[in-house]
Amino acid sequence: MRRTPPLIIGGGPAGAAAAIRLAKAGSGSTIIERQAIAGDPLCGGFLSWQTLEALETLGLSGDELQGHEVHTLRIFAGRRIYELPLPAPARGVSRGRLDSLLLAKAETLGVVVRRGIAISEYRTETGELRFDDGGILTPESLFLATGKHDLRGLPRPRHAAGNDPMLGLRFRLPASNTLIDILSGHIEMHLFNGGYLGIVVQEGAIANLCMAVRKSRLGVAQTRPAALFAELAQDSPALAERLAGMPAASHIDAIGRVPYGWRARTTQPGIFRLGDQAGVITSLAGEGIGIALASARCAVEYWRDGGSAAASAYQRAFARQLRRPLAIAELLGSVGRHPDIAALPLALLAAIPGATTMIARATRV
Ligand SMILES: Cc1cc2nc3c(=O)[nH]c(=O)nc-3n(C[C@H](O)[C@H](O)[C@H](O)COP(=O)(O)OP(=O)(O)OC[C@H]3O[C@@H](n4cnc5c(N)ncnc54)[C@H](O)[C@@H]3O)c2cc1C
Repeated sequence: MRRTPPLIIGGGPAGAAAAIRLAKAGSGSTIIERQAIAGDPLCGGFLSWQTLEALETLGLSGDELQGHEVHTLRIFAGRRIYELPLPAPARGVSRGRLDSLLLAKAETLGVVVRRGIAISEYRTETGELRFDDGGILTPESLFLATGKHDLRGLPRPRHAAGNDPMLGLRFRLPASNTLIDILSGHIEMHLFNGGYLGIVVQEGAIANLCMAVRKSRLGVAQTRPAALFAELAQDSPALAERLAGMPAASHIDAIGRVPYGWRARTTQPGIFRLGDQAGVITSLAGEGIGIALASARCAVEYWRDGGSAAASAYQRAFARQLRRPLAIAELLGSVGRHPDIAALPLALLAAIPGATTMIARATRV
């Protein structure tokens, strides 16, 4: 049966991957992306071995991605350091690079990417999408891939972020030779009370530092993020060494109310929620992009078989796939926010051969 192709809102990994899969299945599509140039959204930029495999199936190889190869997860918990081998090589790649390569791949397959224009609202009563330039569209099927940002009219529930929500903070540092030597082959995770900070080198010798932290950890007086970094560095000589090149006036990106652990179990007619709009995994697991790619694959399969009527069945099926990885990642995240408690499980992980691989696999989709 001939179907009208879905309209895709959002040109991040979920939206771009969906467009590529639709094109490969013989269906053109249009992506609406509000950024004029693929940005570098707040993200750790860690691509797991499984994410790399999924990118290969979309025609994007590790060689094209470049970045920095990662073999070991090094965790700092208080004064202790644990080195855990990853099941297979992973990569640190900037989101600017990943997102622009995926969108370019989609365009070579005939996908129309409308950049620099946003959808401002969805009207449930009429199924209308309103563009920020005043345009209106009523698509038969909508792939909602707006990621971290909710679309007016189709928000994720506000309570999903909890009473003491997690915030994401990120800044980048041109990595000195010393820092590159320290981080060579590793992704580092520095645990502290109330959050954790990941550091990985990306292409162009840039160190990407990305933190997830409880709002309350910023303090009643809402300590400025830069002050929090300085405070953490005071408590940890290792972190102080890594932050040594941080300019006093570093630009720190921030995102509020990250609904870790939430997943969409239902949806509205014709609306397929993808990526972070389908479920949000604790960033400690480094699997958000993997979920975005997996959701694209699943949504396209359901849409091809059942068109817009398949939206609910897709959302239920994908929510089932997310259940276990999200739950295990939540548990890891809550332990990770308490370095004292984390010490024992980390010692066990380091001592038992194969344990890290088992846990790492259990948090993949
Ligand atoms: C602190 C933190 C660290 C993380 N670290 C990692 C990591 O190391 N590895 C990993 O795999 N995952 C990580 N993640 C998760 C990862 O960033 C997300 O899961 C992933 O980006 C989701 O992809 P997406 O395509 O759904 O959304 P996004 O990547 O957020 O893309 C959404 C796109 O939609 C566009 N858009 C939004 N609203 C509109 C609109 N109204 N109209 C038009 N366009 C719109 C945006 O401009 C954007 O390009 C991290 C998350 C956080 C919070």
